[in-house]
Amino acid sequence: MSPGEISLRTHFAEAFRQIAKRAETPDIHVTFYPFAGLNHTIRIRKQRVYVRISDIMRDAPPSVHRALAFILVAKLYNKRVTAEHQSLYRQYAYHPQVQRATDLARQQRGRKVLTSAIGRTYNLDKLFARLNRRYFNNELPKPVLSWSARRTKRILGHHDYVHETIVISRSLDSSTAPEFLVEFVLYHEMLHMKHRPRTINGRRVYHTAAFRADERRFERYDQAMDELEKMTNRR
Ligand SMILES: [Zn+2]
Repeated sequence: MSPGEISLRTHFAEAFRQIAKRAETPDIHVTFYPFAGLNHTIRIRKQRVYVRISDIMRDAPPSVHRALAFILVAKLYNKRVTAEHQSLYRQYAYHPQVQRATDLARQQRGRKVLTSAIGRTYNLDKLFARLNRRYFNNELPKPVLSWSARRTKRILGHHDYVHETIVISRSLDSSTAPEFLVEFVLYHEMLHMKHRPRTINGRRVYHTAAFRADERRFERYDQAMDELEKMTNRR
């Protein structure tokens, strides 16, 4: 999760109210995703809306995020996209800088977004098995585990509820990253499998009190938090 994803959700809620004319806003999950190119997807499943926005759009201005929300929701309901939203989005998408980022993503990512669980230094399958045994009584079903295609520093781990996938940043697949830190990041994502998000006062809460309490059960919790803090300060 990131602040961008939270504000995007507000734009989507607004788009649903206006386009679908629904009294109730559906549950909306928005994530940035490393598509190979400037692609976005939207779908409804069991009253929930799942949106994936190209991570190239992460730093786009709010007006462009809002326009994109209206475009995607219109497509979902086979409604006409207004010229205003279309042009706002196109102006951004055809900007030379964005085009360059899109080309780069195409080259580097190709069609393969997921890489493999076996990294240069760490094997996520092995770490998952160990953590599952130690903290989950071997009860977690095995998700798809993968190192990220890029060495992302801002987001170290991600759990995708829809696809049961855990992606860990390749920046941690290095001997400079201590094993307990990689384990902790993976452990955090595994907790997302155990603790499903809850809606509290109309807000989606991913890190509930129970989640945080479980997180502190990690054997080297304090050390892991120190390491994470060091990494944040280095940026
Ligand atoms: Zn989390």
